[in-house]
Amino acid sequence: MAQNYDVVILGGGTGGYVAAIRSAQLGLKTAIVEKSELGGTCLHRGCIPSKALLRSAEVYSTTKNHAADFGVQTGEVTLDFSRVQQRKQSIVDQLHAGVQGLMKKRQN
Ligand SMILES: Cc1cc2nc3c(=O)[nH]c(=O)nc-3n(C[C@H](O)[C@H](O)[C@H](O)COP(=O)(O)OP(=O)(O)OC[C@H]3O[C@@H](n4cnc5c(N)ncnc54)[C@H](O)[C@@H]3O)c2cc1C
Repeated sequence: MAQNYDVVILGGGTGGYVAAIRSAQLGLKTAIVEKSELGGTCLHRGCIPSKALLRSAEVYSTTKNHAADFGVQTGEVTLDFSRVQQRKQSIVDQLHAGVQGLMKKRQN
């Protein structure tokens, strides 16, 4: 069934979904077309996952190399990479749900 929109946005990344929200706020009938997942590169492969992984690396490095400087005694420090990935994915999933919620809230 054909539908008419004032604005059609191609891509649901950071640029696309923010533009869609603003367009809807301005009262324009807006469609967003996303071929994969809302949130785009930043949420799924870029900013968010990379910072989650960096945080794990930071905690690992501080604990392994500098704990004693802080007066903290540790045993052997090891990295559980599957747990690192799990933490990263749960952050991405939580934010993805948030973006989906924002889009649903504005649905008309
Ligand atoms: C490893 C990495 C780390 C980064 N870290 C940071 C950071 O810390 N801070 C920062 O500001 N930026 C960072 N960036 C950059 C940031 O991810 C991009 O600037 C941002 O994602 C651009 O948003 P966008 O909406 O223009 O494009 P994208 O997020 O790439 O979104 C484009 C969307 O369009 C969809 N699409 C493409 N073609 C079609 C089609 N034909 N039909 C339907 N949908 C389509 C795609 O599936 C995608 O979801 C990082 C990037 C990478 C790769």
